[in-house]
Amino acid sequence: MDEFLPDPVIRLRQLVRELTFSQIAPNAAATDREARWPEHSLRVLGDAGLMGLHVPKRLGGHEQGLLALAVLGETIAQGCASSALCYAMHCVGTAVITAKATPYHEDKYLVPIAENRHITTLALSEHGTGAHFYLPQTALELRGDDYIVNGTKQFVTNGGHADSYVISTMTSEQDAGDGDFSCLMVDKDAKGISWRDPWVGLGMRGNSSRAMQLDSVRLPRQNLLGQEGDQIWYTFEVVAPYFLIAMAGAYVGVAQAALDATTRHLKERQYAHSGERLADVPTLQYRLAEMNIAVQKSRGLLYQAAYLGDVGHEQATNTILMAKADAADLAVSVTNDAMTCCGGSAYRENGLLSRLLRDARAAHVMSPTTDILKHWSGRLLLDLPLI
Ligand SMILES: Cc1cc2nc3c(=O)[nH]c(=O)nc-3n(C[C@H](O)[C@H](O)[C@H](O)COP(=O)(O)OP(=O)(O)OC[C@H]3O[C@@H](n4cnc5c(N)ncnc54)[C@H](O)[C@@H]3O)c2cc1C
Repeated sequence: MDEFLPDPVIRLRQLVRELTFSQIAPNAAATDREARWPEHSLRVLGDAGLMGLHVPKRLGGHEQGLLALAVLGETIAQGCASSALCYAMHCVGTAVITAKATPYHEDKYLVPIAENRHITTLALSEHGTGAHFYLPQTALELRGDDYIVNGTKQFVTNGGHADSYVISTMTSEQDAGDGDFSCLMVDKDAKGISWRDPWVGLGMRGNSSRAMQLDSVRLPRQNLLGQEGDQIWYTFEVVAPYFLIAMAGAYVGVAQAALDATTRHLKERQYAHSGERLADVPTLQYRLAEMNIAVQKSRGLLYQAAYLGDVGHEQATNTILMAKADAADLAVSVTNDAMTCCGGSAYRENGLLSRLLRDARAAHVMSPTTDILKHWSGRLLLDLPLI
């Protein structure tokens, strides 16, 4: 699909592909086995100057949008899904800061990010509202010139390793209703932050997706992103599109990795009694073709969604919702088919395909979840409000 991609995105992908296969993929099994945050991957990507993907050029960044995020996330996930998600959540956090950055946000966050010496991440989800990430219950109180924050975030990818956290809270205004939320920057060393148990997931085990408790955390007023009250704009114009495309990219990458592993295995496995390879079995040829068709279709939808988002097309929102829901379905079904095609060797504990299968399962439950996305997408088709 290179003919549809702009040259800067192709160049970035080439760089990321080389890094992924030479330096990130070789550590993926250990990252998974040890449930270890992939510090090496973030360092490799930072050393190559890739942390400022969404930072404006005038601040030293690449000033790329959703399409680059989709393509790079997909590429990294082909070598290590945990690394792809950690990088992607940093990029989503960066995009949220960039959207309405003040000079203070630029100096404190965006310049260090563009200089590859700052990692940020997104902390929205809470146990109380679960998959309904747009309804935070974390309390925000304005006291003099400072905000005081109290609450607990769950599943904070890069938790405990990032330098800053983009968090969502209720607005501090008294008459706020559901969905009136604020986004704020929390620095890693802010007093009152504590981390719950280390992350040990079924899949995406390198993510350090931990729970973060905020007890009377005091933040300067300028840490607010945008104005109070315009935050619903953040949710649906910035947070959701970047979050969804980041995840869709990673899960299309997981599916591509399963397809590649299956292709290799079918070519290599040969029966002693007949000399026949699995590649010679018509049923497996057919299954492989179906997997490939599914991956190509999902990639097409993903790139289309990202492109429409970048140009602000009126169909962007629904296409982005569909792209993430579809990427989740794809990753789960292709990794399952890969297990079937590759037989007992794939079922070995902690082999590549079993890791991809476990990683893929996170796709359906990451907000907005597949069921909620399809529900929203149907509502848009029926000219009903999203929520
Ligand atoms: C590996 C991983 C990394 C993550 N990283 C981050 C991160 O960096 N930042 C962050 O903010 N969050 C992150 N999350 C959290 C994630 O985005 C979800 O918020 C979380 O997984 C929801 O879990 P829950 O158990 O609370 O879901 P629940 O809310 O309990 O939902 C359970 C199921 O019910 C379904 N459901 C609930 N309500 C409805 C409805 N109205 N219609 C249809 N179906 C419904 C959901 O779709 C879901 O399938 C991460 C999660 C994982 C697994």
